[in-house]
Amino acid sequence: LPIGAQHEAISLYGLYWRRLRFGPGYAAFVQEYAAREHWDTVQWQAWQRQQLQVVLTAAAQHAPYYHQTWNQAQQAAALAGQLTELPLLPKDPLRMAPQSFVRQDIHPRGVQVFHTSGSTGTPIAVYYTIPELRQSLALREVRSAGWAGTSFRRPRATFSGRMVEPDPASRGPFYRFNRAEKQVYFSAFHLRPDTAAAYVDALRKHRIEWLTGYAVSYFLLARLILDQGLSVPPLKAIITTSEKVTASMRQVMERAFGCRVYEEYSTVENAIFASECEQGRLHVSPDVAVVEILRPDGSACDPGEVGEVVVTSLARTYQPLIRFRLGDLAAWDTAPCPCGRAMPVIQEVVGRIEDVVIGPDGRQMVRFHGVFVNQPHIHEGQVIQEALDRIRLKVVTADGFSAADEADLIQRVQQRLGRTVQVVVEPVVSIPRSKAGKFRAVISYTSPAAVQEQIRSE
Ligand SMILES: [Zn+2]
Repeated sequence: LPIGAQHEAISLYGLYWRRLRFGPGYAAFVQEYAAREHWDTVQWQAWQRQQLQVVLTAAAQHAPYYHQTWNQAQQAAALAGQLTELPLLPKDPLRMAPQSFVRQDIHPRGVQVFHTSGSTGTPIAVYYTIPELRQSLALREVRSAGWAGTSFRRPRATFSGRMVEPDPASRGPFYRFNRAEKQVYFSAFHLRPDTAAAYVDALRKHRIEWLTGYAVSYFLLARLILDQGLSVPPLKAIITTSEKVTASMRQVMERAFGCRVYEEYSTVENAIFASECEQGRLHVSPDVAVVEILRPDGSACDPGEVGEVVVTSLARTYQPLIRFRLGDLAAWDTAPCPCGRAMPVIQEVVGRIEDVVIGPDGRQMVRFHGVFVNQPHIHEGQVIQEALDRIRLKVVTADGFSAADEADLIQRVQQRLGRTVQVVVEPVVSIPRSKAGKFRAVISYTSPAAVQEQIRSE
């Protein structure tokens, strides 16, 4: 489609989304999230206990995976609401058979399916009922946009994994505008020194008030803005998602964009939600999930002790996730927050910093493992940038992997980086973990030292 028609098509899609977002129940969800913020610990615990009972019972009785894999003692524990008696859930079973986690006792209309590459490069299909989706959007309105002093009703710009502009050689525009949601979708794949000014112009042209999406993309744009002395229109806030924001990244973004950065920690599964309050602390929303931080032996970490984040979703009950291993590491901070909210605080989220992939023309990209999304014959994948013009994809293949899958992968990489990039697809038995036991979805040996250093400086 020509660019103009693309803006139209996206606006139509936006209209559909606006109806999904603001449809029946939305205003009530917003009110409920806002009211619960003022609860004390006792109220939160009572609410969680009750909701946990509902979710665990539904999982044990109606979701085939739990019904089949939990033994009798575990089924009984679930019915009694005893979460810690239940086994941890790795990503694999969910990736292999997402349908087997879906409840069989209800058949809601209009179920929405989202795919995620996850922070481990393992794609997962996530099923939302319409009320669950609307609830998750209301949650973001209150505790993400609201805490940052803005709203999803105000114009915003987004950096995400969306392939906004498919032509790697495009001369612009590097975004599409969704009129219905007053939203600019930026391409994360065209950001480089000679395009930075066009990104800033789009903010001015569409009177954007706040920014949201990939932290590293905004950080990279911020560096270009400062390097080139570009003038940025007034903005209310940047709400980052996806990657950890280090102190130095935050400083660079706040200087370049002239507004405060608020970090959000969430996942496509809506299996955890934490957002930054006015006092700069990351509060977990207890009405989204029960969050545990565990040692390798499964016991709970002490405050300040880094451990594995394990979540049980309370907000999404159609495809219940029970003691789901997110693959992130974090620590609790038990000091009370001056904002007065009794919602628990996460001190730090570690292990989500990804490497930046660089194109031969200097463009910088994050979350490049998006090339593995919706690849049914790939069990696990890792992107390794060996040189500016050479990418190696290590893949653990599933049954049915063929030359067509390989060609598709090569095409996806070249679509992002250009045709001159050599792509090597290497089937492997397994992908080695880092010293800390973490899976690294993207490894780059070519990122400029400055970028690497600034991202890693903490
Ligand atoms: Zn607070």
